[in-house]
Amino acid sequence: MGYDIIVVGTGPAGLMAAEHASMQGLKTLVLEKHASATDSLMGELVTDRALNLLRVKPDSEYVGNKFTSIVGESLDTGSNIVVDRTLLGNSFLLDEHNCKELMRDRALSDGGEFRYNSSVKSVVKEGASVVGVKYDSSNEARASLAVGADGSFSRVSETAGFTHPKWLLSYGHRFKLANCKNVDPNVAYFYVGKDIGLGYLWLYPRSETEVNLGIGRVPSSKQNWRRLPPMQDVLRKYMKTHPETANAKIVSVNGGVVPCAGIIPRFTDAGVALCGNAAGQVSSIVGGGVTTCLHAGQVLAKHAKRMVDSNDFSKKSVYLYEKEYRRSKLASNINNTGKGMWAVSKYSMLNDPIAAAEIVLGQLDARTLNELIQGHASIATYMTLMTDFLPMVAKIGVGYLKAIAMTGL
Ligand SMILES: Cc1cc2nc3c(=O)[nH]c(=O)nc-3n(C[C@H](O)[C@H](O)[C@H](O)COP(=O)(O)OP(=O)(O)OC[C@H]3O[C@@H](n4cnc5c(N)ncnc54)[C@H](O)[C@@H]3O)c2cc1C
Repeated sequence: MGYDIIVVGTGPAGLMAAEHASMQGLKTLVLEKHASATDSLMGELVTDRALNLLRVKPDSEYVGNKFTSIVGESLDTGSNIVVDRTLLGNSFLLDEHNCKELMRDRALSDGGEFRYNSSVKSVVKEGASVVGVKYDSSNEARASLAVGADGSFSRVSETAGFTHPKWLLSYGHRFKLANCKNVDPNVAYFYVGKDIGLGYLWLYPRSETEVNLGIGRVPSSKQNWRRLPPMQDVLRKYMKTHPETANAKIVSVNGGVVPCAGIIPRFTDAGVALCGNAAGQVSSIVGGGVTTCLHAGQVLAKHAKRMVDSNDFSKKSVYLYEKEYRRSKLASNINNTGKGMWAVSKYSMLNDPIAAAEIVLGQLDARTLNELIQGHASIATYMTLMTDFLPMVAKIGVGYLKAIAMTGL
């Protein structure tokens, strides 16, 4: 065997797995289809947890900004909810370029090897076991463990035979803006609205003159999607109609796709494991993948070391990574929010999700909304919903049941 571990992809999941695998002395190869580790978007809004996983300080060059509150607002009516630090905890805007370089450099300094412009086509199997990957037109690399950290359209996942019947994807675009005016750098915004569709538009200030403006949208059905304006047009319209961004300059445009219906049914097999978006390890309702992917990469690397030490890459042995991951609190949040997102997408096939969002923004308090979005609502919160907000719950619930009756679960 050539390597202990091959990691496909230099997103947060792959880089974290590579950093920790190399740090523990594993012979590690990373394959990335782009020309550098920083070419793909990483995501940026995170909590303390991500900083801890990255082992960086809030006042370092790895953190671009810190927010004291987050506002959820309707672009159509202006109704809003303010969620402040006491409910939310700390919210940071990472400098994604610096963070990616940090993980890459740590892996390199511990002997990790990176090959860029290397597009993986499939896994290589011997019997029931994966023993490596094929990349570009005819190259092959062999390892005891192949890790698919290659995103939402993972080639490793597809060719290793993993399935995901409830695959629901959120499509995102992001502009980095300069020359903005009078932006409050302490407050980040999430907007809903008719032009946005099933999703949200976000504004994350980097300073008083720089913001990241993005949009994420889930297609609840083809017809619903076609009725909506293109996502970049929605961002441009926002810019024009808000004085802070009316004369701003777009300095970069990025995009990507994030799974949002929870963790896939199985993401390990003999000699192979998935990590990050590829495994659906993203907290769906707010599209938060950075922390969950970093965490997954770290858990994976720990188990890779165990497998190397015991020289056991059997299905049962690789599954122990999946087992530990599924037991984590982050995994249970992902699955809770995934179920929520699946229900919301069903609801939106036949009902107007924006009308429902308006009801929620107009009636729910910040604490309840925050708990529901984070996927850790308590029984007391559900009881409050059923007592204090019964008409709202009933209205949305009836719409959901109608959609289930007509389209199935
Ligand atoms: C616009 C947008 C904004 C976002 N903002 C946030 C945010 O603020 N906070 C947050 O928590 N999350 C955010 N997310 C989600 C977050 O970015 C993702 O969940 C996270 O990047 C997934 O990490 P990953 O390592 O699994 O995969 P990815 O980051 O998708 O990385 C996959 C890597 O694999 C490479 N690759 C793919 N196929 C191959 C192949 N065949 N061969 C070789 N290499 C391959 C790709 O080039 C890429 O480098 C955002 C997502 C988008 C789209």
